[in-house]
Amino acid sequence: GQGADTVLEVRGLSKHFGGLKAVDEVDLTIRRGGVHALIGPNGSGKTTTLNVLSGLYKATAGSIVLDGRDITNLPPHARTQAGLGRTFQNIRLWRSMTALENVMVGAERPGSPAGSDPAALMARARAALAFVELEDRADEVVASFSYGHQRAVEIARALAGDPALLLLDEPGAGLNSSEKVELRNLLKRISARGLTILIIDHDMTLVSEVAQHITVLNFGRRIADGYSADVLKHPDVIAAYLGA
Ligand code: ADP
Repeated sequence: GQGADTVLEVRGLSKHFGGLKAVDEVDLTIRRGGVHALIGPNGSGKTTTLNVLSGLYKATAGSIVLDGRDITNLPPHARTQAGLGRTFQNIRLWRSMTALENVMVGAERPGSPAGSDPAALMARARAALAFVELEDRADEVVASFSYGHQRAVEIARALAGDPALLLLDEPGAGLNSSEKVELRNLLKRISARGLTILIIDHDMTLVSEVAQHITVLNFGRRIADGYSADVLKHPDVIAAYLGA
């Protein structure tokens, strides 16, 4: 069974595209609290894994259990309601809407009493924007925001849904170095709040600074898993990154 210290338990997860095994029998256990990174060379199956976890793709095989609940066959919106928040590699926001309006969409929780109350919804959205330090720009349209701030709004939208697990697909992509420092600090604040994050990123500096656990994929298969310091010096991981 799944212990209370485990948020996500993935067993034998596979996703095939025709004859291509993009994700091949991957096991993944994510403990509550902290940051878990999913890394691997280009094309190793990281984004596909995230898309199968969030329900964008249907798994070819395997099971996904979130907080003790089997979500393997749920559609994406039901997984969000079950406690899975996510951001995308290419930011997905309504650019002509304000930051607050964007985040309010994430704060909606159909089925819960607080979720349908507009005042509670707005309060949750404002709190999420405050958390990413954009409270004073809540009523500005997102199109006027820098790329780094748009990324922060997207993270706030995911946070507003009060997720049990936050999936971040290359949150550092397209950010300049000062924006990356801000992102790193934000991830540490989220983590300090007790939230659990699964992050994909190929920026090893970011990964080694924020993640306590790392799972490594290569050609769709898990080749290493464990504490960051151990995984990063694993010979198979070094070889995969060097293309050996
Ligand atoms: P990563 O995120 O590690 O770079 P991906 O998960 O994007 O890797 O891709 C893994 C493999 O699956 C690659 O060979 C990629 O070309 C393939 N792939 C990803 N998405 C699709 C798709 N929708 N249809 C067919 N092949 C895909």
